[in-house]
Amino acid sequence: MKYYSGIDLGGTKIYAIVIDETGKVLGRYKIKTEGENDADKLAVKIADCYLESLKLSGIAEKDITALGLAVPSSVNVDLGILKYAPNLGMKNVEFLKILKRKINKPMFMDNDVNMGIFGEYSLGSARKYKHVYGLFVGTGIGGGYILDGKVIRGVSYTAGEIGHMIVKIGGPMCNCGKSGCLEAIAGKVGIINYIKKQVEKKGKKTALSDISPDWRKTVGSSALRKCYEMEDEVVVKAINKAAKTIGIACANLVDVVGVEAIVLGGGLIEEMGEVFTPMVEENMKSYSIADGANGVALIKAELGDDAVALGAAWFTSLEENKNYLK
Ligand SMILES: [Zn+2]
Repeated sequence: MKYYSGIDLGGTKIYAIVIDETGKVLGRYKIKTEGENDADKLAVKIADCYLESLKLSGIAEKDITALGLAVPSSVNVDLGILKYAPNLGMKNVEFLKILKRKINKPMFMDNDVNMGIFGEYSLGSARKYKHVYGLFVGTGIGGGYILDGKVIRGVSYTAGEIGHMIVKIGGPMCNCGKSGCLEAIAGKVGIINYIKKQVEKKGKKTALSDISPDWRKTVGSSALRKCYEMEDEVVVKAINKAAKTIGIACANLVDVVGVEAIVLGGGLIEEMGEVFTPMVEENMKSYSIADGANGVALIKAELGDDAVALGAAWFTSLEENKNYLK
């Protein structure tokens, strides 16, 4: 039996898993990081997390065949270069080279959302499909695209970034520097900005102030769900607008690339999927051309926190991806 490691590097955490060659997860380990943006220090932490995950799995380090790393960045997968990760404060870093000094294994690195959807496509809710788009709604909105079983990355490794598709010209400012991006309207950051505007400029009241007093800075998806269930007018409007906009983005997707299935995932969908999905579906169908979205399955991601690390480990384990290993 062969064994593989998958590591999901986020802005504030490192999550490592170990799988066997059948895709079975043998162990997981997670550590928090505090805005670490020094590549060497980060590599040390990744190596610690990796070793702990091995201990918990009962697998010796020498028995790991290869390691897949997923990062919040566009990635030059051919050269192992992390291109731009604002959450890690890194730009054009040969990160695999640095990590290799700490973990001497064949490695592969890709964008986290690409690996998350690859996980769902290979081992999760999209197993039945070949042509799949993954749309993950959390603080921001990430996307990843699989065509005939291949991850599509584009010539500059930026394909799939649906969160930065402009859905409203002159719309709200996005963290990326553009305005009117899907994420700036329908990601949690966009939802909160909309609520802020209603409260501060229009004098509206929201129960969010009681449930989550710090909501302007940070708010959990569960607080939004509670307010939605209480029929808080401002929150209901904000969520409905977000779901409608995501539905329209899905219609655009179907019109342009014609996927078989769209996987919806991320914190907001995990918490409020039953609210979002019907509205996304209704709008996807009514805004796509010539009933194009009628046969498109809208499915919920099922791998949760494992998706990204599992996708990275599984991608790395496949014979057909051997050439990517560094
Ligand atoms: Zn943007």
